[in-house]
Amino acid sequence: MVTKRFIAGAVCPRCAEIDRLVTYEKDGEVFKECVSCAFKEKQVAQVELSELATRVNTEEVVPEAAEPVRLVLDSGKGKAGDS
Ligand SMILES: [Zn+2]
Repeated sequence: MVTKRFIAGAVCPRCAEIDRLVTYEKDGEVFKECVSCAFKEKQVAQVELSELATRVNTEEVVPEAAEPVRLVLDSGKGKAGDS
């Protein structure tokens, strides 16, 4: 017997309905399913998910903050003061 649990606040990527996604475990794997439409997805292991989220966050923040600063420094004293 498979126990399905609703994911609070989750939005279905297919029909865009809120609180229609359920999650359940079967054969050691976690699945996500929409009760409103036919959407169904196999969930990746939780460790990989959090690792991916961290990496994406870092990549998004670092270049945005670093690039403008570097450009300003370069045009100012970058060429003369370097080496
Ligand atoms: Zn749906």
